[in-house]
Amino acid sequence: MKTAIVLLSSGLDSTVNLFAALKNGVKVVRALTFDYGQRAARNEIAHSERLAQIASVAHEVVALPWLKAITRTSLVNTDGDVPTGAAVAIDDLETSSATARAVWVPNRNGVFLNVGAAFADSLKVDLVVPGFNAEEAATFPDNSADFLASLNHSFSFSTSHQVKVHCYTTELRKPEIYQLGLDLGVPMDLVWPCYFAGERPCGQCESCQRFLRAKAASGAFGASGAC
Ligand SMILES: [Zn+2]
Repeated sequence: MKTAIVLLSSGLDSTVNLFAALKNGVKVVRALTFDYGQRAARNEIAHSERLAQIASVAHEVVALPWLKAITRTSLVNTDGDVPTGAAVAIDDLETSSATARAVWVPNRNGVFLNVGAAFADSLKVDLVVPGFNAEEAATFPDNSADFLASLNHSFSFSTSHQVKVHCYTTELRKPEIYQLGLDLGVPMDLVWPCYFAGERPCGQCESCQRFLRAKAASGAFGASGAC
């Protein structure tokens, strides 16, 4: 049986990957949630804790205070505004590239995957499972299949246990991921898609807009086969 560390933010992609790993017979040794001072940290940690509990998986919060200290963009730094509402255009590559810059955290996925691989190497775990998706790979290249392949190459040098990265959603767009989540029985009300830490998801930030569109599209997805 393969073993895995899942990187769990409680967003749609990472949550679906947790349940997909379990469904595929992988033993998830630990779910890691990163606290790098992001605005939604408190909510992400609380929701991840609940999700891990439901999945019967050990949960650990990994604090990365230095990443908060060196991040200048608005996802962490409250002096800047996170783009919301009409400032977000999820189908416009130029606009979504600009919003991606506004929420960019230096080498975030590179750091996360390497921290996950360090845990995996230490615990002799086979896989690190991130939540990548095809929809955001256009504006966030650290979501792409190429990046995943490059990590596997890199970890063949940097881990003694030959840790691999495996993601169940790299080739999927958000509506397909949402549908997969429904098929897997993911408790969707526990997913926290939002960049903010309100009582409820704001519905206006880029991440909320992508989630809501996926949710709306997923109903028709199974019947039409297209999003
Ligand atoms: Zn939001």
